[in-house]
Amino acid sequence: QARRTAGVDKNLWVEFTQLAADYKPVNLGQGFPDFSPPQFVQDAFCKAVCGGPSMHQYTRAFGHPPLVKSLAKFFSRIVGCEIDPLEDVLVTVGAYQALFCAFQALVDEGDEVIIIEPFFDCYQPMVKMTGGKAVYVPLRPVCGSSIPSSGDWVLSAEELASKITARTKAIVINTPNNPIGKVYKTEELQMIADLCIKHNMLCISDEVYEWLTYDGAKHVKIASLPGMWERTITVGSAGKTFSATGWKLCRLITSTTLFLFISYFGLVTHARLQQEAVAQGFEREYELFGTPESYFQQLPAMLHLKRKKLASCLEGVGLQPVMPEGGYFMIADISSVKVDFNDESTKDEPPDFRFVKWLTKEKGLGTIPVSAFYSPEHSKEFDKYIRFCFVKEDSTLDAAEDILRKWS
Ligand code: PMP
Ligand code: GLN
Repeated sequence: QARRTAGVDKNLWVEFTQLAADYKPVNLGQGFPDFSPPQFVQDAFCKAVCGGPSMHQYTRAFGHPPLVKSLAKFFSRIVGCEIDPLEDVLVTVGAYQALFCAFQALVDEGDEVIIIEPFFDCYQPMVKMTGGKAVYVPLRPVCGSSIPSSGDWVLSAEELASKITARTKAIVINTPNNPIGKVYKTEELQMIADLCIKHNMLCISDEVYEWLTYDGAKHVKIASLPGMWERTITVGSAGKTFSATGWKLCRLITSTTLFLFISYFGLVTHARLQQEAVAQGFEREYELFGTPESYFQQLPAMLHLKRKKLASCLEGVGLQPVMPEGGYFMIADISSVKVDFNDESTKDEPPDFRFVKWLTKEKGLGTIPVSAFYSPEHSKEFDKYIRFCFVKEDSTLDAAEDILRKWS
């Protein structure tokens, strides 16, 4: 075994998707919609399948031409600079591969990478696999509004600055955030951008939930701030964009120089049919952008209602939720719930892991423990929260509510 892989032998998703497969709970755990993608991308996929022999053969390395063209057109308008379809856009197998390629291409042995907690769990092993070192800075909840919100979770500029050293290569941010749903405000992004520029750091910005913001929160791309385009790698996901997580298709957008370094890690060419369908999806969205017919308006409008539904259910049973400003998930505080776990097999695990396993096995409701999104040094401070996914049919949310009401 290569030394750099030592300790990379456990995976949250392997464990908790297996638990869900074994116990078949009402599943608000792993983040995926249990409803279909919009008809227009399904139709585009079917059309591609029947589109003749070439549709079933290799396409261009780094990204199918119609897809990179439609992405460049779409995101030039959003980022506010001219994105080159052939030199700035890389198509990958999901955001996982985009992140993996970025870390491999840009982080050297001994380099430090700052990760803001809570973080999507793959960043840490991916940094480790480069021989680099992850350095953690947590978002901390401040007492603010009477209804807890992900907006109350803030980053201390002093704490962040204190973690930067001569070896700091990059900072990883995730907005809207998984698991808490924080949507970084422009001022917060500007503070991070100022530090990136001052200390010559790169920024890897995971924006897979970019269209999903609620109650007026606005997603801002750090790449669009002055001086940041050249030093930012922006990661987006077709799976989240078009509610088709199984398509495992992602885009990475960055400046030409960084693209040159990263692209050859991207395994060169990927499944053509999904790329064709997603290209058609972006063409449609380009035309409808900002109108009520746009899926990028319709999906958050629908999820806003589901988020409200889940929040009122959790409040009703005494599990105080933190209202997410964006994304797929909501966390809730379980510290008021007294459960007598008599599961010896989990006795050495953190309280949130024990709770989630108990809830799945005994009550039939699947969720995810939040301390899994923290480094060992900070996980204890946050092991009183569990995560619920609300991107589900109302009938699934009703079934979850039934379980919670009966038990509480
Ligand atoms: N980043 C975040 C924040 C995620 O929640 C996920 C899970 N969807 C990913 C990256 C990986 O996305 P993909 O399924 O496109 O690989
Ligand atoms: N991103 C999704 C989540 O956070 C799924 C992750 C996965 O299956 N690896 O639930």
